[in-house]
Amino acid sequence: MQAYISAGSNQGDSRKILHAALQEVRAGAGRITAISPLYRTKPWGSIEQPDFFNLAFALNTKLTALELLTCLQQIEQDFKRVRTVRWGPRTLDLDIISCDDIVSSDPRLTLPHPRAQERAFVLAPLCDIAPDMIFPDSGLTAAAALAALGEAALKEVVKLDAGIND
Ligand code: ATP
Ligand code: CA
Ligand code: CA
Repeated sequence: MQAYISAGSNQGDSRKILHAALQEVRAGAGRITAISPLYRTKPWGSIEQPDFFNLAFALNTKLTALELLTCLQQIEQDFKRVRTVRWGPRTLDLDIISCDDIVSSDPRLTLPHPRAQERAFVLAPLCDIAPDMIFPDSGLTAAAALAALGEAALKEVVKLDAGIND
């Protein structure tokens, strides 16, 4: 299965956390075939909190989608993510953007991610690694979904010179 994952952090040493998280994904889920540059992004929602670091990566996995979610949630726990308020600060957030062409409205695992196509901090890194990825629910490519957000959305995300190296 080909999965695309969005990773974010705005607490602790975010670069270090994201780097270590990618290692854990490799150990537990499969082969990472592409990693986007790192972005600095404005928090989403109305909570006052630090900017986020975000990236996207492509994963080739033998796990099922639900097994992958469980694996990613375990990795979040390993970084002592504390779930306080929704859309609040966190050490690590790993969201599944899509898994092959699966469409699911299960609240435990909604695919594609229900808010991915509204978020420049998901789409901009995704476009760096897979601009032609098609969202199976809307039929839009990642590039088309990002273009649909308009210019203003791009101001919320800044591509950084130094990425997460392996
Ligand atoms: P958002 O989903 O808007 O990005 P969030 O990442 O802060 O918000 P979480 O608290 O991390 O939300 O996740 C809430 C629940 O969302 C998880 O327990 C998980 O079961 C569910 N979920 C549904 N679809 C997905 C998906 N595609 N990827 C990751 N989690 C998902
Ligand atoms: Ca999220
Ligand atoms: Ca999440």
